[in-house]
Amino acid sequence: MSVSQLFRTSALLGIFFSFFACMPEPNNGENSKKGEKLKVLVTTSIIQEAVQKILKDSADVELIIPIGADPHSYQFSPEDAIKSHNADIIIANGLHLEHRMRGLFQNTTRSKTLIYMADGVPISKLRHLDNKEIDPHIWLNVQLWKSCVSYMASRLEKDTEWTNYIQKNLDEYLIQLEHIDITAKRRLKRIPEESKYLITSHDAFGYFGNAYGIKVLGIKGLSTTGEASIKHVDSLVSLITEKKIKTIFPEFSTSTKDIKTLVEQCQENGIEIKLGQELYSISMKGPTNTYDSLILHNVNSIVKGLR
Ligand SMILES: [Zn+2]
Repeated sequence: MSVSQLFRTSALLGIFFSFFACMPEPNNGENSKKGEKLKVLVTTSIIQEAVQKILKDSADVELIIPIGADPHSYQFSPEDAIKSHNADIIIANGLHLEHRMRGLFQNTTRSKTLIYMADGVPISKLRHLDNKEIDPHIWLNVQLWKSCVSYMASRLEKDTEWTNYIQKNLDEYLIQLEHIDITAKRRLKRIPEESKYLITSHDAFGYFGNAYGIKVLGIKGLSTTGEASIKHVDSLVSLITEKKIKTIFPEFSTSTKDIKTLVEQCQENGIEIKLGQELYSISMKGPTNTYDSLILHNVNSIVKGLR
């Protein structure tokens, strides 16, 4: 080993050991002293909840995309750059959900751990669309989200060496997620097979549909940006007529313009269509401020509208 290699290796080891020296001891749920907690920065409230379930009081988990904001169009601010600088670990969804934040993530990978939840999903289970886009809305399929959470926990184990602590919290959270999935499956069985068509503002519920045997169509594509084409709206009107679909669903934090266009088109064609309760594809607020209430709110609204 040359002198320069030796110097580089010892410098790297120095950084390595000082990194772990700074890591707080897991406190198994007891409040740790101020300043000792791991600083985790996450992009969405759904990821925030998952990290809080796994790290509990051992971490301060800060959110970048505010509740109610649309992750597809969110652009990071100078404050977000400061938060990112101060964080120990950044956790994002990936699959271009937060595509306008790419610059922030590129800076991050140079200096700290960046975890993409989507890396926990096997490629074969991702929704590859005809236009080569990959659907980022993986959290709406509870089984896929379990894989994502397990993957995130395994990465946190490597970074923190809190293996037993993280594993115990993960096991508890996976049981909770399994219960949500069982409840969702049971409730969605109330919809007759021939009525299992879900039309929403944008194409967010594909993984959800795959999980529960529901055919899903978005008025807009995977992203909320841009406008729905007239041709696509016409094809939805034909489908609504043919399959006697009773209800279509607006989404919280997504523009209602396109869904109104579809309702007007139906009315012009003499078709009666109802607007269902607003679905939550991403934001967790009010009655849907937890992951389980978000999934079950959607399930209940869909059952009510389609059965
Ligand atoms: Zn979306």
